[in-house]
Formats: sequence, C-alpha cells, structure tokens
Amino acid sequence: MSKLSSEELKYIKKKLIDKGYKLTEQRETILNVIVENKIRHLSIDEIYELVKITLPDIGIATVYRTIVLLKKLDLLCEVDLGDGFARYEIVYLDKERYHPHLICSSCGKIIEVKDSLLELVEFTIEKESNFKIITRNIVFYGLCNECDNNKILSG
Ligand SMILES: [Zn+2]
Ligand SMILES: [Zn+2]
Repeated sequence: MSKLSSEELKYIKKKLIDKGYKLTEQRETILNVIVENKIRHLSIDEIYELVKITLPDIGIATVYRTIVLLKKLDLLCEVDLGDGFARYEIVYLDKERYHPHLICSSCGKIIEVKDSLLELVEFTIEKESNFKIITRNIVFYGLCNECDNNKILSG
C-alpha cells in the first residue's frame, strides 16, 4: 500500500489550483484511498466505504461529486472491467490513461499493462478507418502466472 508521494501531491494540487479548486482534506483522503488500493480499481461504493474509515461524517454525495471533479480535471479515469461497475484510477500521464487490463479468470487478479503498444494500434485504426477514438475499454481474460503454474501442478 502506498500513499501519494509528495511529487504526486504537488502535481495534483497544481491541477486543482490551476482550475480554481483547493486540495481539501476530503479530496486528499479520497485520492489517497484510490492510490492505496490502486490495483483493486475501486468503484464509488468501495471508495466511500474506505474514505469513511478516516472521515466518518463524509456523505456518498461528496465522494460522488469529488470523483466527477477529478475526472473533469483529468486526474482520474474511469475503467470498465466488465463487472458492471464504473471503476476509477488515477492517471498522471496522458498516455497511461487508457491502458489495457489483464484479468485472471481463476483468482480475479488485475494486472496493468502500462505500455504504449496500443498507441500504434489506435493510430493505425484511426487512419485506416478515418475514425477518431475517444475512449476504449480493453480487457484481456486469462490465467495469471501463479494460477497457470498451479494448473500444471494439479492437472
Ligand atoms: Zn490468478
Ligand atoms: Zn488500471
């Protein structure tokens, strides 16, 4: 579990202040919860439950409004991992925004693919189909290394 580094906080603060917003305690707590549970890709309900531990009086409406704001400022992006929930993760770089996710069908582990491989694919699609891609939702299902090894051992 890692909290926001001071570098990251500085970047986020600047983005908020540039648009006339403050880094309030509530906003910082919400951001920290998302960063600490990064690999889980939390839904709004999950964020709310975890933020309540630190800020018991916070309402879900505040969490919701904060998410909308952070999304508007391009600090958060929404991911759909195919389970019916909108999930959120923090993005610092534009090219990391829509990275593919790998989901292990056996243990449910989520693995991030932080690679710019897709840029070339998208560039080619846009050019050849004369189409501007706005959003993408790329999930690959399979077996993580551990589950794959277990399968071999038990099978
Ligand atoms: Zn697995
Ligand atoms: Zn991700």
